[in-house]
Amino acid sequence: MKDQSCIFCKIANGEIPSAKVYEDEQFSVILDMGPASKGHALILPKEHFKDVCDLDDAYAAKVLKLGAKIGSAMKKGLGATGFNLVQNNGQSAGQTVFHFHMHVIPRYDDQAPIVTWTPGSAEPEELQETAKQIRECL
Ligand code: 5GP
Ligand code: ZN
Repeated sequence: MKDQSCIFCKIANGEIPSAKVYEDEQFSVILDMGPASKGHALILPKEHFKDVCDLDDAYAAKVLKLGAKIGSAMKKGLGATGFNLVQNNGQSAGQTVFHFHMHVIPRYDDQAPIVTWTPGSAEPEELQETAKQIRECL
């Protein structure tokens, strides 16, 4: 299903032009218009899913492999030495376009990491309690 008001539906299905890296029956991979590094790409399903929780199994089964394929090509073609696969779900997680997408962000040796956080701390009991809260909702 496509969403007529969704920009990523339009880009994935070729209704809006993009710098295309890859295409198959299910996905288009395009360059991000505001790249975090040279080659920053977005994997877009051609169908509309708002986030990873909404993603159909047939797409979910392929998206990680596709991320690896694109990332490997970035290493060969662009001289990247690593890559981040980043996937945001929900506004609080930084999602700004509500059509599932996976970022493939090539990394280069002369640049600082971009996906980082300051490690916090938690007592073992707190970790156990938190794990229980999640487990009970699976
Ligand atoms: P999010 O923050 O939702 O995970 O990522 C959305 C990404 O889509 C951002 O990195 C943003 O630069 C990119 N983006 C938003 N609109 C467009 C567009 O029209 N074309 C392209 N190529 N990228 C877009
Ligand atoms: Zn869409």
